Amino acid sequence: MDAFEYTPLQGRVVFGYGTLARVAHELRLLGCSCAFVLSDAHHANTATRKLLDVLGDCAVGVSTDAAMHTPVDVTERVLGRLSAASPDCLVSLGGGSTTGLSKALALRTGLPQIAIPTTYAGSESTPILGQAEQGRKTTLRSNKVLPRTIVYDVDLTLGMPAHLSVVSGMNAMAHAVEALYAKDGNPVTSLFAEQGIAALARALPLIVGDTQHRDARSDALFGAWACGNCLGTVGMALHHKLCHTLGGSFGLRRTRSVRSRFGAWCADFVEGDRNVRIRSRQGGRDCDVGAVLEPSSRRQGSDPRAPRRRISRSQTIALKKQAMHDVFPELTEDVIGRMKGAEPRLREVMTLLIRHLHAFVREAALTQDEWRVAIDFLTRTGHMCSESRQEFILLSDILGVSTLVDAINNEGGEGITDSTVLGPFYTGPQRELVNGDSILLREEDGEPLVLRGRVANEHGIPIAGAKVEVWQTATNQLYDVQDAEQPHGHLRATFRTDADGHYEFKTVMPVSYPIPSDGPAGQLLGKLGRHPFRPAHVHFMVSAPGYRMLVTHLFLAGLATSHPRGEAHAAA
Ligand code: FE
Repeated sequence: MDAFEYTPLQGRVVFGYGTLARVAHELRLLGCSCAFVLSDAHHANTATRKLLDVLGDCAVGVSTDAAMHTPVDVTERVLGRLSAASPDCLVSLGGGSTTGLSKALALRTGLPQIAIPTTYAGSESTPILGQAEQGRKTTLRSNKVLPRTIVYDVDLTLGMPAHLSVVSGMNAMAHAVEALYAKDGNPVTSLFAEQGIAALARALPLIVGDTQHRDARSDALFGAWACGNCLGTVGMALHHKLCHTLGGSFGLRRTRSVRSRFGAWCADFVEGDRNVRIRSRQGGRDCDVGAVLEPSSRRQGSDPRAPRRRISRSQTIALKKQAMHDVFPELTEDVIGRMKGAEPRLREVMTLLIRHLHAFVREAALTQDEWRVAIDFLTRTGHMCSESRQEFILLSDILGVSTLVDAINNEGGEGITDSTVLGPFYTGPQRELVNGDSILLREEDGEPLVLRGRVANEHGIPIAGAKVEVWQTATNQLYDVQDAEQPHGHLRATFRTDADGHYEFKTVMPVSYPIPSDGPAGQLLGKLGRHPFRPAHVHFMVSAPGYRMLVTHLFLAGLATSHPRGEAHAAA
């Protein structure tokens, strides 16, 4: 056994069903007889009334003003009424807010407290007090704020909604997991932590199914106490912050998976880079762990109970990815499961698409605004399309998808001309010309060019009668379909190879041109800082019965980067 230090927190614990009835007895054990009762609006009518019945004449005043974050002005107001009542102790009944108010009053008056928690917040077991003043929350540690007696009455927790139970239980487990690796951890606290985690892990799923499950409620309340003890005796770090925030944002069904994920990660990774934002979005909730990380990171420098090691930026990013991976995993399977009636290949493709799309959304932690921008972008892309304009192909080209599809479907090889993308400017069947004709329908300013070549199979055997379709821009950088001034069919035509596989036509030197930037695809290119120019080229589509069609570009030496070959080979 390694050396350790352990300071037990003072206080008596009474645990069971119906223990509220024993509060008057507990009061006497403390040597007290005049209790000032604290509660919140939620418990004002039911449990508080029961407590007042139990206390009878011993209750000398009541306040149901407890509010979240223990605002100092509320404390001061209640303090005024408390002083007038001259109690000799405080009895609080409620969640973390009520316990907080009781602690704040105990700090100011030195009165002993009996805490009767109704949630799994765990505040009753800690010497920590958080108070809000003028929009700032400050935290202090003092044994003066520790309740002398804690009365756990399982019956009081039966009405807690399932959602609150899980969030509050997750928070409690977070404290315990942290205790297992805290710098000032010790075997006694670890015992509490393990017992607390086990009890809550057992109880929470049962409570989700039945909020009145008495055994589960008992386990959960015990777990909350055990975990709260950990929070009181060891330091807090990233795990506490993460689980607190994410525990509140994840749905009930994800309890177990969140626990397993964060339990494993946070044992290694503590404290984050405060500049990294970790966002989680679920069921309309939106939380930002980055905001939680910041004060925690700042604290690290001065707190002797600081965690063992710093986390790097890349580790934080990895943690974020892992966290996002777990956002609503069953949704993906649910959507995929609804395609059972689909034809097999469609189902296969759509399954992959949904998986990758969901993974992308999770990893990018897409905001709703970003999602709307994407929908708007696709809508505008659709509106831009017409008989003569294919904006989706432009987009596909920009994103590299066209090239990828082409590469997968057109395997190259020795003696086979490289295939390239079709592009958006092929518009269907073109007029047939005779070898040697010009593809111009009007005069062009450019340098005249005679383009001749030979179509052969992969063994170099010429293919007669192959169809050779060609198209290119005019010297004003526009295709005929983009330019109302050009005659329809200008600079595009179809030829047939002769007996030796030859084709030949007259044209002008192609020019480099920008892809259209007046649509969403061009705008995207601009935003990505990419230039829109394509090197000068002539498009070719070569087909022949019994051969795979070849779609390629011919880039001319001196005008472009590659493809100086004048021969186009159709692949067998
Ligand atoms: Fe082109």
